[in-house]
Amino acid sequence: MDAEALVSKLRARISDERVLAAVRSVPREHFVAPEQAASAYDDAPLPIGNGQTISQPTVVARMCELLELVGTDRVLDVGTGSGYHAAVLSRLCAHVWGVERDRRLARNAARALAAAGIDNVTVIAGDGALGLPEEAPFDAINVAATARRAVPSALEEQLALGGRLVAPVARGDDERLVLVCRRAKGLERRALEPVRFVPLR
Ligand code: SAH
Repeated sequence: MDAEALVSKLRARISDERVLAAVRSVPREHFVAPEQAASAYDDAPLPIGNGQTISQPTVVARMCELLELVGTDRVLDVGTGSGYHAAVLSRLCAHVWGVERDRRLARNAARALAAAGIDNVTVIAGDGALGLPEEAPFDAINVAATARRAVPSALEEQLALGGRLVAPVARGDDERLVLVCRRAKGLERRALEPVRFVPLR
């Protein structure tokens, strides 16, 4: 598959043209291991080392769609991994701060983003469950590793008024995307479709 074939496949589930254009514009081959280059445009998760995976494009696109980004948004990406999801987010907003706990992955992600010509993502090595208080509040927060029981409260606290957060949350064996919106009246939480991510540590 190539980027065009991948986007045609995503159309079955994703209707936001801005998100589809963002996926089309990110060279995914920069974010996979060299030996996976032939599979770079498959709609599948792929290994990126240390037992972690680059997320499946359908899921990346779906999460971007749920965040309803606008060009001025400041976005936090937790569990940046290969940097691919952050790259797609970066096409839809002003700036992305990506936090990745694995130093080697964080270093590789920064390198891959630079090689892809993306200059509005800052990658930080650290514990993303704590958010990034020095840059908060964020208009949107994307979490790519599964929290047990609930979204970490530090992340919800770092959402701006009108801000949106999407995260996989597991209760027992039931793992789903949860969408959190900060309204004037408080936080609104909605559980959506089932997903599968690596655990948030
Ligand atoms: N968004 C990534 C997917 C990475 S998989 C991509 O597009 O490639 C999830 C990542 O979350 C892994 O790299 C893992 O190391 C990281 N992770 C897990 N717990 C974390 C934490 N507490 N803080 C930051 N990163 C974390």
